Amino acid sequence: MKVLVINAGSSSLKYQLFDMTNENVLCSGIVERIGLDGSRLVHKLNGQKHVKDQEVKDHRVALKIVLEILTDKTYGVIGSMKEIDAVGHRVVHGGETFSGSVLIDEKVMKALEDNIELAPLHNPPNIMGIKAAKELLPDVPHVGTFDTAFHQTLPKKAYLYAIPLRYYEKYKIRRYGFHGTSHFYVSHRTAEILGRPIEELKIITCHIGNGSSVAAVKYGKSIDTSMGFTPLEGLVMGTRSGDLDPAIVTFLQEKEHLSYKEINNILNKESGAYGLSNGLSSDMRDIENAALEDHNEVAKLALDIYDYRIAKYVGAYAAAMNGVDAIAFTAGVGENSPYTRADVCSYLEFLGLKIDNAKNNIRGKEAIISTEDSKVKALVVPTNEELVIARDTQKIAKSIKK
Ligand code: AMP
Repeated sequence: MKVLVINAGSSSLKYQLFDMTNENVLCSGIVERIGLDGSRLVHKLNGQKHVKDQEVKDHRVALKIVLEILTDKTYGVIGSMKEIDAVGHRVVHGGETFSGSVLIDEKVMKALEDNIELAPLHNPPNIMGIKAAKELLPDVPHVGTFDTAFHQTLPKKAYLYAIPLRYYEKYKIRRYGFHGTSHFYVSHRTAEILGRPIEELKIITCHIGNGSSVAAVKYGKSIDTSMGFTPLEGLVMGTRSGDLDPAIVTFLQEKEHLSYKEINNILNKESGAYGLSNGLSSDMRDIENAALEDHNEVAKLALDIYDYRIAKYVGAYAAAMNGVDAIAFTAGVGENSPYTRADVCSYLEFLGLKIDNAKNNIRGKEAIISTEDSKVKALVVPTNEELVIARDTQKIAKSIKK
């Protein structure tokens, strides 16, 4: 079975085509700057990049271009569109409606539209991607996989905020959590690498990228996670503040005469490592280089605060699970920064965690990076959200064929 996985963002559309007989990625790519000047397709095949500058007015055109390249004589991997058996879509917000992947029918489309209010930036482009794909590939099953789904097992004590309960009842204000597909994949892979059933393990997964979150995965179920009602809560991120005293919001609004939109923009786009480093960069590679090589003090402080926040969450989640067996690092920074991993783990020696510096000196590869005698294991596990979406899509597509 061949499964096309689509991740539609506000101005981009990423794709991967899987051959599920061996779970191989046949090709992948991205259509960038949809609806903007300078739009283009970047298609990856056999480790080679093929770039095509082209006007792309909307998601439908973007998907048409993708389908053309998939069937192209030179750069394509399939003879015709008929070889695509199913399409898997990444959807950011499933609200309380979805706790797993689903076949997208009319009812599901309606539920997705109803959830727009919860994810105004993310769900509309996801919906546009689904609509375009259903139109261009009308005869195959379309499956939705939700970033929030894995965290639907959170107990009430973890997902309710201490504001009047009526706001949960009226507006569904609660912790949803995000990066669920990544936390699911990484926790399961961690158990496999350790050679133990996930049902016996307490795992803390640290998805540290441009957006970041930590999850407490107890016996295979997410019981707490650092992102909340929106992806703004929790860790210090590239440009997002993460946790702060909510009174700062109203204080700043009053002092600086800021509108709701302006304060939202400051907390989402001008804060985090970018804000702390005085606008030096939101990219942790730049922050690390400035801090460690150029001895830039502001960058070093930003890096210290960034790592410290991760360590505090890991400590909290060890308490939430009354213990921890393994801590796994993933995503851009988690997979590629030995410094941040070592710095975070240096706070966790009290748990019996010992890092092996030689083993930790790796990038982008699966590895156990703790010492043999470390009570708590530390690992690097590159995430693979697309594979989870492809597997779920295959499973659902097969079940409806029966
Ligand atoms: P993601 O959102 O998962 O793509 O992660 C992006 C983040 O990973 C950016 O802040 C990158 O700077 C960071 N990153 C990628 N490679 C490295 C590296 N070698 N060292 C530190 N950070 C890195």
